[in-house]
Amino acid sequence: MSTTHTTKVAFIGTGIMGSAICGHILDAGYDLTVYNRTKEKAEGLIARGAHWADSPAAAAKGADVVFTMVGYPTDVEDVYLASDGILRAAKKGAYLIDLTTSSPELARDIHDASEVVDVHAFDCPVTGGQTGAEAGTLTLIMGATEATVAPVLPVLQTFGKKFFYFDQPGAGQTAKLCNQVSLASCIVGYADALALAELGHLDAEQVLELIMSGTGRSGAAESYAPKSIAGDYKPGFMAEHLRKDIALAVSAAQDAELALPGAETAFTLFDTLCQIGGKRMGGQALTLLYAEEGDAVAAGLDWSLLDAGCGCGEGCDGEGCDGEGGCGCGGHGHGEDHECCGGHGDGEGHCCCHEEA
Ligand code: NAP
Repeated sequence: MSTTHTTKVAFIGTGIMGSAICGHILDAGYDLTVYNRTKEKAEGLIARGAHWADSPAAAAKGADVVFTMVGYPTDVEDVYLASDGILRAAKKGAYLIDLTTSSPELARDIHDASEVVDVHAFDCPVTGGQTGAEAGTLTLIMGATEATVAPVLPVLQTFGKKFFYFDQPGAGQTAKLCNQVSLASCIVGYADALALAELGHLDAEQVLELIMSGTGRSGAAESYAPKSIAGDYKPGFMAEHLRKDIALAVSAAQDAELALPGAETAFTLFDTLCQIGGKRMGGQALTLLYAEEGDAVAAGLDWSLLDAGCGCGEGCDGEGCDGEGGCGCGGHGHGEDHECCGGHGDGEGHCCCHEEA
């Protein structure tokens, strides 16, 4: 593919969202280099003309704009701050833009470190889901001023349609977490409604149509409830990522002694879904918690896993975890970087491990 821009773009993390976003960057004629932990997920982009790099640093080297859209705060930390991370590899004056939903505190740390090495780094989580990524209509939530973002606006406009400037490093992530706690409660809200509809022997689609015609409607019900009703639990937006987002929000609130009862309830429910085998299902699979056990099993869940262990299957060794069950910590143990709780450390407030929240 011939490129029509002199701006060189790198993109790290070509998963559900990243691959769709990269498609728009390529379509707009940018020279694009990609890296993903699992190379297969980048093959389609390479076939369309993207260059492959063997590491985040190799991708970042020489790029004018580097996007990251990985899974968890620990992934972001590795990609940016490791000794072979992109902060050290990026050329002076480059823009490093994190699209991951991650920790506000980490975003501030990365911003501060970027000033030392003379690059521009800002948080820019997105909303709009897989559909918005594919359509190129995402909403971008920036922890930067309009003036800071202006030089890179053309490339952002290839996949974003609405732009919110929250001016301060980390503020984009905080605003995104506000969106996520609202989203999580909306999913719980429509899941409750559909369970009540079933109890009353009502037609679920008719009840959803009613809800969508009035004040009970939500974007979550619009996007996800039809999939719940149809039994389509493919992600979209993985339950484990929503659990991570709610945990980050609840953790930040707890640090300031603010209660978020809606988010705490949603966390318990999404954590349960993740523990019993649903972490890589779409968030709409929450309705399976209300279903007959046989239906949940048919969909791939296993209630016997609840509280049986960690569920991450990656060596989580905390209390109540046997290494194969479910806190979603990504297997790094119960130390200071406990990302499922927003990295607030061991013990106190360790909601994902069922310690006192
Ligand atoms: P995803 O499909 O899991 O994509 C994340 C990608 O990042 C994966 O392909 C993963 O590699 C890669 N990755 C993780 N750590 C890496 C590392 N250290 N180096 C290189 N690549 C790495 O998830 P997603 O749905 O695209 O979501 C990505 C982020 O956006 C999450 O923070 C999520 O909360 C947020 N988000 C998602 C949506 C949505 O609707 N899906 C909407 C808004 C925001 P592997 O292929 O090896 O796993």
